[in-house]
Amino acid sequence: MKVMKFGGTSVGSIESLLHLKDIVNAQDKPVVVVVSAMGGFTNQLLAMCEQAQQRDISCLDTLEAARKRHHDAIDGVVVESMRGQVHETIDRFIDESLKPYYLALATNPHMPVDEIERVCDAIVAHGEILSSAIVTGMFDDGVPHLSLNFMRTRRDGHGRVLDWDETERLVKQDFAQLTEGVHVAQGFISRDGEKGDVTNLGRGGSDYSAAILATLLDAESLEIWTDVDGFMTADPRTHPDATVIPQMTYAQAQEMCDAGAKVIYPPTIAPVAMKHIPVWVKNTFNPSAPGTVIID
Ligand code: ADP
Ligand code: ASP
Ligand code: MG
Repeated sequence: MKVMKFGGTSVGSIESLLHLKDIVNAQDKPVVVVVSAMGGFTNQLLAMCEQAQQRDISCLDTLEAARKRHHDAIDGVVVESMRGQVHETIDRFIDESLKPYYLALATNPHMPVDEIERVCDAIVAHGEILSSAIVTGMFDDGVPHLSLNFMRTRRDGHGRVLDWDETERLVKQDFAQLTEGVHVAQGFISRDGEKGDVTNLGRGGSDYSAAILATLLDAESLEIWTDVDGFMTADPRTHPDATVIPQMTYAQAQEMCDAGAKVIYPPTIAPVAMKHIPVWVKNTFNPSAPGTVIID
């Protein structure tokens, strides 16, 4: 069984979602698909938090534009029998969850700092919750999973870390029926084991979510589907002469990620390296390109 992670640009448009569908349909089942929020939406959700705190409720206009973007994607990619249900899911999360959160931020000037942080963490999780509803609805054999039910974090000094033991127990429970179908889970999002608050694994953390699942489910491989042909010698946006590295060791990949190669979130490598699970970096928009394999 493979774990395949699709990043923001790979779920960001009807065109890219149709590529995703073809790529996943070509796989042996079961398969686990981990998705990011639609490209740019996480930044928007956070920018709207700032606006709401300034009592600038024009953030609600941005939210309506995002609603339309998600509905358009549903009409373009979701199987017909599921469309109505997925439209309803998107509206429910926007109207009954996101809007009340933004209004609470906008109308409560005395909200304590830790409460603001808690609300913004809950808000930012909606990017992956909405995109995963669309992706699940693209497959007749789509099986939804909610990462909030099994990804557990705990406080560690000023930050948060994954609670591996509790996450392992919950992942094994949640994926016990992994016999067929396209199993879709959200990247990035998690829950605090002690307080139950919604948390996340840090910006770019969907890669790490996928690596955690690959490791705990003993996947045959982890595939990171993104918008470039593989792990490259440098960022192609700033170095147009960069070339794809066909094969790397975990140590080489870790070193380049630590040095800022944004293509993989740095904590992703260690867990899969420990289990010797090969990591592929592939291009959703050019799936026949060989990509990069990261191995021992
Ligand atoms: P995703 O949304 O799929 O997670 P990211 O934007 O996080 O995608 O990562 C892919 C981007 O990483 C590429 O578009 C590229 O500009 C950038 N990047 C930076 N360094 C590298 C590198 N060494 N090799 C490939 N891409 C890189
Ligand atoms: N959506 C989150 C972000 O933009 C996580 C991810 O895409 O990996 O940071
Ligand atoms: Mg990324």
